Amino acid sequence: MDRTPLLPLPEGMFISQIQERETSLLIEVIATQETVCCPLCSQASSSVHSHYHRTVADVPCGGRQIQLALTVRKFFCRNLLCARKVFTERLPTLVEPWARMTIRLTKALQSIGLATCGKGGSRLATRLAMSSTRQTILRRIMDLPPLSPGNVQLLGIDDFSFHRGFRFGTILVNLEAHRIIDLLPDRLAETSADWMGQHREITLVSRDGSSTYASAAREGAPQALQCSDRFHLCQNLTEAMQVLLARSQAEILAVSTTENESHPGEATKRHISVQEWRPPEPSSVKKARLARRSGRYARYQHVVELDRQGIPTKEIAGRLGMSDRTVRDWLKQGTFPEAKKRRKRQSDFNAFAPYVLKRWQEGEHNGLTLWKEIKKLGYTGTERTVYRHLETLKQAEVNVPINLERIQKFAATVAVWLFVREPKTLNEMEQADLAAFCEANTALKRAYDLVQDFFTMVHKLQGHRLDAWLAQVASSDLPELESFARGIEKDKAAVHLGLTRSTNNAQVEGQVTKLKLIKRTMYGRASFSLLRQRVLYGM
Ligand SMILES: [Zn+2]
Repeated sequence: MDRTPLLPLPEGMFISQIQERETSLLIEVIATQETVCCPLCSQASSSVHSHYHRTVADVPCGGRQIQLALTVRKFFCRNLLCARKVFTERLPTLVEPWARMTIRLTKALQSIGLATCGKGGSRLATRLAMSSTRQTILRRIMDLPPLSPGNVQLLGIDDFSFHRGFRFGTILVNLEAHRIIDLLPDRLAETSADWMGQHREITLVSRDGSSTYASAAREGAPQALQCSDRFHLCQNLTEAMQVLLARSQAEILAVSTTENESHPGEATKRHISVQEWRPPEPSSVKKARLARRSGRYARYQHVVELDRQGIPTKEIAGRLGMSDRTVRDWLKQGTFPEAKKRRKRQSDFNAFAPYVLKRWQEGEHNGLTLWKEIKKLGYTGTERTVYRHLETLKQAEVNVPINLERIQKFAATVAVWLFVREPKTLNEMEQADLAAFCEANTALKRAYDLVQDFFTMVHKLQGHRLDAWLAQVASSDLPELESFARGIEKDKAAVHLGLTRSTNNAQVEGQVTKLKLIKRTMYGRASFSLLRQRVLYGM
């Protein structure tokens, strides 16, 4: 008889024999405790009635499957008052009365099932020498007892879709514990209200702007404050901005087409954007630039010639003292690559450029007058700088700053990100794209400022500015934002709270994302209750 730390067994159980098979071990185990308690009356008994054999699967050992061949005894209950005359000894820490596998194997399979999908889970279990089927693993997950949502003070609620926008359920999150606490099979107000009704301890419900969860909270948790979650506020504003953008884009393109058609003769005059507006190049600088260009051009010709002779890129680069990469790029482009324009230097004048441009178009072409005007507005630069800028206006038209190419290349769904992202996260190219939009249409610039201001309010929790913001929108003449603002007016108390409380109420969206991942890996076609088990136990 043997007790081994390699295969822990409950007190009083011993290994009597080990039979080695090809991929498994059959381990015979006997119970030796002299007295055993009756499960009904708890009285101890030592009168053995009979023995019987039972085989259960256990966790693997050294990569081999384990079968435990248990010899289990039946005892007489000697308590005359007890209804049970004969009982089977219990092995509560090892195996349940009717189970085919040990408790520890059940737990192992549950862990595998919760972490993987049913099919992948059974494959993995087989590799780990815990041969099992998908059905068994799924059943083991369903055996897990219902989890209590516990005490929930701050509740986050949102919907999620089972099938892409086809059927919806509701997800409930404990915002303090950052944990999904339940899933509901639909998104009806009654279902959610019932759930909340069982949790009188809820003090705050964070939800989207739709009326469903608002009314559910009114019904089910009248004691709780309602808070509009920041994620949905930002999402709704982004959508409004996108509609506005699509409309403005269409307008810009329509106007520019008619303009081009009506002034066909003026196409010869060069058009530059206000960003590119700078004084003419001094002649010395221009000379130097042209000299550099002709040097570059000669080199380019040389590269093309050597390439025509069939000389490999690497060798051309070596001979001309250039990098491989430049040679490759030049050859790939197939035409002479003009040097990139250097960036415009920041000057005091830039801030006043739009004003001067406007006055110029109104007919004021006197440099001294314009200088005096902007000086009053705070310009500290010299009169000469103003003159030099006006010089450019005589040669080129700056009044059509619309960079159509930039605007046309975008779908509104993409362009909207330029407007809603934090400005400092935009790269140079994106900043230029954004500027092109804002220059092309003053409404877009207005909208941009309002949208960014709203996001600042959201990020810095400046709910106290909400009324002022709404007032600005009301007089903005931007119908899409006005309609967003009307939605907020209807739900203002909750929005105000959402913009004031620091509770992370946007996390529900993150939980929905996790849930989607689980859904995708496991229960695409499986039942709601299985998904619920997996989500609640798996997090
Ligand atoms: Zn008894």
